[in-house]
Order: sequence, then C-alpha cells, then structure tokens
Amino acid sequence: MPEPYWPKRKNSYTLGDAERMPGRLVRIRCRYCKREHFYELGDLRVVLGNIEVDDVVYAMKCSGCGKDRTLDVELVSVSAGDRQKTTVRRLVAIRYLRRPVWRDE
Ligand SMILES: [Zn+2]
Repeated sequence: MPEPYWPKRKNSYTLGDAERMPGRLVRIRCRYCKREHFYELGDLRVVLGNIEVDDVVYAMKCSGCGKDRTLDVELVSVSAGDRQKTTVRRLVAIRYLRRPVWRDE
C-alpha cells in the first residue's frame, strides 16, 4: 500500500520524514520564470534544517529571477532509471562569509 505524499494534516511533514522514503526528489518550480530544479531531500535538509516540506518555498528564492514567493514545491518519486536522466542540483559547499561590523565609540 503506497503512502500518500502529503499527509492530511498540514505542518506535519518534514524533509527528514520525506527522506525516509527512497527515490524521492524535490521539484522546485518558479511560477514566474518557469525555471525548475530537482533537489535531494538530504541536501535541502543540510541547508535549511529539518523544516516542513511546505515551508521550503519560504526559505528559498528562485535562482533564475531572484524572486521569492513564486516557487512551488513538490515531492516527486523517480525510478532508478529516471534518476539517471534527471539533472539534480546537488549541494557542493556552504560558504560562510566573514564580515566585520564596526561601531564608533
Ligand atoms: Zn524565477
């Protein structure tokens, strides 16, 4: 019996929950510029923390047009064969900026 992707109760399904089911990717699509990217759940969890899947759209901006609040997020199930053909945007590194803040006293 396959489980539903989206539980009935909102705010109850985290990236970590979704990650437990193998073969899932997150598709994030911009309604404005129509760009879409696929992400690994684990990569998003590292960057955003274990937030609810619904909240991913509030934590990201479109990498194409730079707008926020234009993104749609969807969990998709991909077979191993389709995974080979899908370009997935993987996390390469997280850079921390060191920025001094000054105050005159
Ligand atoms: Zn966009």
